[in-house]
Amino acid sequence: MKTQFTRLRGMADQLPATIAPWQLLEKAVRNAMSAYGYGEMRTPIIERTNLFKRSIGEATDIVEKEMYTFPDRHDELLTLRPENTAGCVRAAIENGLLQPGSVNRVWYTGPMFRYERPQLGRQRQFFQTGAEVYGLAGPAIEAELILLSARLWRELGIFDAVQLEINTLGDTDDRATYRELLVSYFKEHEHLLDEDSLRRLDRNPLRILDSKNPTMQEVIAGAPALRSSLSEASNEHFEQLKALLAASGIEAIENPRLVRGLDYYSHTVFEWTTDKLGSQSAVCAGGRYDGLLEQLGAKNMPGVGWAFGMERVIGLMDVLELTPAQSTPDIFVMCTNDVSPIHSLALAESVRQLMPTSSVLHNTGAGSLKSQFRKADKSGAAVAVIVGAAEMDDGTVTLKPLLDKAEQVTVTKEGLQSALQGFLGG
Ligand code: ATP
Ligand code: MG
Repeated sequence: MKTQFTRLRGMADQLPATIAPWQLLEKAVRNAMSAYGYGEMRTPIIERTNLFKRSIGEATDIVEKEMYTFPDRHDELLTLRPENTAGCVRAAIENGLLQPGSVNRVWYTGPMFRYERPQLGRQRQFFQTGAEVYGLAGPAIEAELILLSARLWRELGIFDAVQLEINTLGDTDDRATYRELLVSYFKEHEHLLDEDSLRRLDRNPLRILDSKNPTMQEVIAGAPALRSSLSEASNEHFEQLKALLAASGIEAIENPRLVRGLDYYSHTVFEWTTDKLGSQSAVCAGGRYDGLLEQLGAKNMPGVGWAFGMERVIGLMDVLELTPAQSTPDIFVMCTNDVSPIHSLALAESVRQLMPTSSVLHNTGAGSLKSQFRKADKSGAAVAVIVGAAEMDDGTVTLKPLLDKAEQVTVTKEGLQSALQGFLGG
């Protein structure tokens, strides 16, 4: 149908028919987070632009080209959050969560906004779930976060379709040493660099390694690896993480080219990738960002976290044919034309009380019994509960199974609960 108003490009509507995998995913997330003792955070989807500029970094794709930024009515520059690590850190500091020595394990879920070219698996409004831990500096918490994500993949049935890739970026000193090596390598090969990379050569040369441009891949592959610039301590941190993962049965591929698109990472970075979603292969990404907390005002407070794209996880469930069907009501309540709907409305209410975990649909608006049964069949409900004039007279109701050929029964109000339980198998 041609409509006057359409949704914005790169933004999706979810309808009752497509919501089931979202609800399943959200439930699995809540279970996993609670199993690991993480507390939920809900922060505004809009923040001051400076928060993202300062934290994500000026010379990043996100800040350079992807942010939804606009002035409000008082000309204050605001941005729809492109990610939520910065917002959570802002909120944790502002609300006094980050006392010296404290440890906070938190998670969030919600929409993020990036002005990207929309395509399969890449939207302008997309959803992320993330987990963040403030206050722990060692590799054990990185292993815990990775295990938490792995548990979620197992729960959803996608574990065998994803692969963990890890790398280390070392500390600030390591990266300064490496930066020089990298700049001199890329300067030698300047004629092979694309426009973005040339711009980044001075401002943020590490970001060149993250380029998705196919023509850049060869020169990137020849670049020196960061591992060669790592201090003993940084090396040890990474080796310990690898040992922890191996001991936990998580297979990790070392990818020395993994640098991540955001500036605030140090030491460990990782990604869960898949080869089942075409070119949008990153499902979940994260790492350590000790410097970010300091930058935003929390002294000596390490941080680490990850976020996954919910559309991509659902896409993966789809490819693997794991998406659940649309949910249907269990019970359909109706009345015959000679009875006032007041009675069936009240009956539906009492059925909901008797069957608190069932979904009960009341057929508001009368119609012939035949047409009501057609609606009942279409609804997918397992059983119809009918009240007619005869039932009104003797205080009974009639139950008709809809999914099989079992006989219909007429029961008293007292017998209704057990009869319904019988039909619904519990
Ligand atoms: P990509 O390399 O695909 O652009 P990214 O490095 O920009 O991803 P992050 O900022 O690390 O992604 O976000 C974490 C996850 O969020 C990604 O791994 C991906 O699953 C998801 N994601 C990022 N951008 C989008 C988008 N525009 N649409 C849908 N999902 C996205
Ligand atoms: Mg991106």
